[in-house]
Amino acid sequence: MTPRIVVLSAPSGGGKTTIAKTLRERYPDQFGFSVSATTRKPRAGETDGIDYRFWKPSQFLAGVNQGQFLEHAQYGGELYGTLRSDVAKILESGRHVLLDIEVNGAAQVRKLDANALTIFILPSDPRVLVQRLVGRGSESRDEIKQRLERAIDEITEATAFHRWVRNDDLDQAVEAVLKVSEEPARFVRDPKDLPWMKQYLIALDDERHRL
Ligand code: ADP
Ligand code: 5GP
Repeated sequence: MTPRIVVLSAPSGGGKTTIAKTLRERYPDQFGFSVSATTRKPRAGETDGIDYRFWKPSQFLAGVNQGQFLEHAQYGGELYGTLRSDVAKILESGRHVLLDIEVNGAAQVRKLDANALTIFILPSDPRVLVQRLVGRGSESRDEIKQRLERAIDEITEATAFHRWVRNDDLDQAVEAVLKVSEEPARFVRDPKDLPWMKQYLIALDDERHRL
């Protein structure tokens, strides 16, 4: 196994954080996780240096100017970025580096590194996506509405990702990511994927209006 960057993207509630955490716990010798810097405030239960590095906007902008970030992007009015030093450290230890990042960051990584694999994660049923997002209980109703609006834009970007992994059963999704992490960075689609994605966008928009 040659260590590489494995990007996990998903609309909010899609399961990227859970999948990344499970992979690290089950396969600590194969996967490390890059802890992003962000200007957003910590949520209940989040720890500085473990979930994120919680930076002031001035510190983040200084990091951008000094070229500390492999990629960075805005999400929900806050800045998020992957530190080059973190990625290098994990790759040097001989493990793949998991990045839990949004779609613009994923596009930057794809452009920078031809060997990086980008994976888009979604539960098969849009109602399940909404249920999981609501069930997580970490966002207000307004934030959930905003995240669902953004989800529609993000799913539109899913065609740019090498692989799509459905997150219905967690174990199956984790094993699917494990398997494709050893495969070349090429675009692989199931013939049913595109029609599914089109229906998904329509159904998710309905769900959003129903909230
Ligand atoms: P994301 O990081 O993409 O926003 P999370 O990993 O936080 O999503 O998952 C959203 C919610 O769904 C969490 O409460 C998580 O525990 C739950 N979840 C994730 N994957 C599954 C799954 N396969 N089955 C059931 N619940 C799941
Ligand atoms: P949250 O605030 O829910 O933790 O994350 C919001 C979004 O920011 C998610 O889509 C998450 O994947 C993304 N994100 C987290 N860290 C980074 C990062 O370093 N770079 C980019 N581009 N996105 C990130």
